[in-house]
Amino acid sequence: MNILVINAGSSSLKYQLINVEGEIVLAKGLCDRIGLPGSLIKHKAHDGRSVTKEIVMDSHLDAIKQLIAVLTDEEAGVIKSLDEIDAVGHRVVHGGEKFFSSVIIDDEVLRTIEECEELAPLHNPPNVTGIKACSKILEGVPQVAVFDTAFHQTMPKKAYIYALPYEYYEKYKLRKYGFHGTSHKYVSERAAVLLNKPYDQLKIVTCHLGNGSSIAAVDCGKSVETSMGFTPLDGLAMGTRCGTIDPAAVTFLMNKEKISTEEMDDIMNKKSGVYGISGVSSDFRDLEKAVEEGNERAELALQIFAYQVKKFIGAYACAMGGLDAVVFTAGIGENNPDIRQRVCSNMEFLGIRIDPEKNRSRGIEIDISTDDAKVRTLIIPTNEELAIAKETIRLIGKA
Ligand code: AMP
Repeated sequence: MNILVINAGSSSLKYQLINVEGEIVLAKGLCDRIGLPGSLIKHKAHDGRSVTKEIVMDSHLDAIKQLIAVLTDEEAGVIKSLDEIDAVGHRVVHGGEKFFSSVIIDDEVLRTIEECEELAPLHNPPNVTGIKACSKILEGVPQVAVFDTAFHQTMPKKAYIYALPYEYYEKYKLRKYGFHGTSHKYVSERAAVLLNKPYDQLKIVTCHLGNGSSIAAVDCGKSVETSMGFTPLDGLAMGTRCGTIDPAAVTFLMNKEKISTEEMDDIMNKKSGVYGISGVSSDFRDLEKAVEEGNERAELALQIFAYQVKKFIGAYACAMGGLDAVVFTAGIGENNPDIRQRVCSNMEFLGIRIDPEKNRSRGIEIDISTDDAKVRTLIIPTNEELAIAKETIRLIGKA
């Protein structure tokens, strides 16, 4: 079965056509600068054929039309007709308190996703636009929504209620939601397979460390705690996001610098994190290079990041009352031995001990613990698109 996976952003739309049985990405691509001058589509087929062309895309509807055209194109295409697309799986950022798992999209579901727009004003509207565009062009093809927040809907109230006046939760649904749920679910399930243990008997901390980073406590197959909050700004210091800081620092800075809420939002989301600390870059490869050249603030940024990850692992082991495995995933988690080493150093008391040789691995599924370690430390490359495609199949199989 071929599933078209769509990840729609405000001015871009990423897609993959996945043959789920063979776990083959038949083609993938990006429609960029939608609604802007110079919009273009970049497309790559599994056999290496690729196309990049500037083409006017005024809307997400145009983008879907273009990606369908290129998927079925005689030269760069991978399918002959639309009939070879069995279903569409959409990444939807926010499912609020409405969605605990993925769902087949119908009018009622679409209305409910629209109701969640207030919680994710930048992300949900393009997701909705992408769904509507697919309904028009791929009429009759089943569509499934897979939510970033859904996996974390199993968190207990004590984990997700903020210590603000309770009425704000009741009035605005202001609470912790958590994100990267598809990734945390996928890698924790894979961990159980790799460890050959029942998923519902394992206590796992999953560390999704990329440009955006979050950590989750997965207790017996359920997310019980996670580091991102009401928005993806909370938790770890990230590439450019500040993560958890004293809330009073926000009003202090706004008063001192005489800045608006928009400017403050911009500082916290785009100018902070390891970029803000180092003044060098949000990319950990650049930071490592700067450290080699003796840049002390780059070194400090790496120390802060690894220290925060370490603290979350400890806290989540306590939250679950035990720990069987720690999983590293996403760009940094999969590819950065130095960060993994910094995180896992001096963690023997908790049962974590990694083998330096195995820790040199990058981008493969591997247990990097020493043989005698009580807690298994794993690298598991995440694959959110495949997870969305599999969820889509599971749901349409049910329909
Ligand atoms: P992501 O958001 O998951 O794409 O992760 C981006 C981060 O992962 C950046 O800080 C990169 O430095 C890091 N990263 C991604 N790929 C690699 C790689 N092959 N080697 C080292 N670091 C990588």
